[in-house]
Amino acid sequence: MSFGVPSVKLISGSADETEEIGFKLAGVLKAGDVVALYGDLGAGKTTMVKGLARAFGIDPRDVTSASFTIVAEHPGTPPFYHIDLYRIRSEEELEQTGFWECVEGSGVSVIEWPEKIGDAVLEKAVRVRIRHKGNDIREIVIEGLDEKDRYNLQTGKA
Ligand code: ADP
Ligand code: MG
Repeated sequence: MSFGVPSVKLISGSADETEEIGFKLAGVLKAGDVVALYGDLGAGKTTMVKGLARAFGIDPRDVTSASFTIVAEHPGTPPFYHIDLYRIRSEEELEQTGFWECVEGSGVSVIEWPEKIGDAVLEKAVRVRIRHKGNDIREIVIEGLDEKDRYNLQTGKA
């Protein structure tokens, strides 16, 4: 638990609910935002990315996991970058993927396994932590939103 940092805590009871939470989270994002998704393998990070992507007009079936694609670009307004850092091994490799152009650009970047890189770039990111709570239950904690957006997400008004 992180104390003192204002956050939204949601409970998901299914993959569909987590996808929907991603969809709603997208409603409070704007071009240029970065979302860092923390959670173990199978927590539901990619599931949430599908919902985020759907909100930006992307077919969720085009959002895939376990591929060797580190940066998947989905063109649109704004462009949507699904970044999976699981296999990143060096700064050099990171640079070659175009990672920095994504997170510093005017698209929306969503990053799985952000802990693979330093925290500096993620300070201004919306940070989402997904934790297993048994069976299909997940606790989803979201930090880095302003008060109005926290309220809208927590009350389901987003
Ligand atoms: P990650 O990207 O974190 O490794 P995925 O989203 O690829 O995780 O996979 C999550 C798996 O857990 C999927 O098979 C999904 O159906 C299942 N699942 C069960 N309950 C949930 C839930 N509440 N939220 C998200 N995924 C869930
Ligand atoms: Mg994944």
